Amino acid sequence: MTKRPDVVDMAIAAAKAGSYLIYLSAMPDWSKGLCLGQDPDIWFSEEVGVQVFAREICSMCPVAELCLQVALADPSIEGIWANTDQEERKAMAGNASFAIDADCFEEGIHILSGTASTLAAFYGVTVRTVVRWKEALRSQAIFASYLGLAA
Ligand code: SF4
Repeated sequence: MTKRPDVVDMAIAAAKAGSYLIYLSAMPDWSKGLCLGQDPDIWFSEEVGVQVFAREICSMCPVAELCLQVALADPSIEGIWANTDQEERKAMAGNASFAIDADCFEEGIHILSGTASTLAAFYGVTVRTVVRWKEALRSQAIFASYLGLAA
């Protein structure tokens, strides 16, 4: 019996739950965050001028994408993260998420990159099934982002 790849199971579950997949270990290292070594209060200040300063730093930060994914994963997180505040993040899509590991991510890319007929033979399923798998993966932000599509 053919087993549906874990990453497809996760993408389908995420779509049903209205959540999204995140893939942390593919992202840049946190150690490159521009707020490291700065006063953390800057990112949690109530003062508009200080918030603007924090946002300016975020807008130049090389790990902002990772930072935003992490902040979006937990709606209770306060403060400025990746040039967004808590209210802005709440307005963004998704209010729950979970991470996938590198193997799952690679398998997802493998499925998205291959032709349906080749993948159907590889996994021992119908072409139609592969098409559904691709749709499930494309609906998830991390793969849409990888493909350059809107999530
Ligand atoms: S995006 Fe902003 S809050 Fe996030 S790591 Fe970079 S500087 Fe820090």
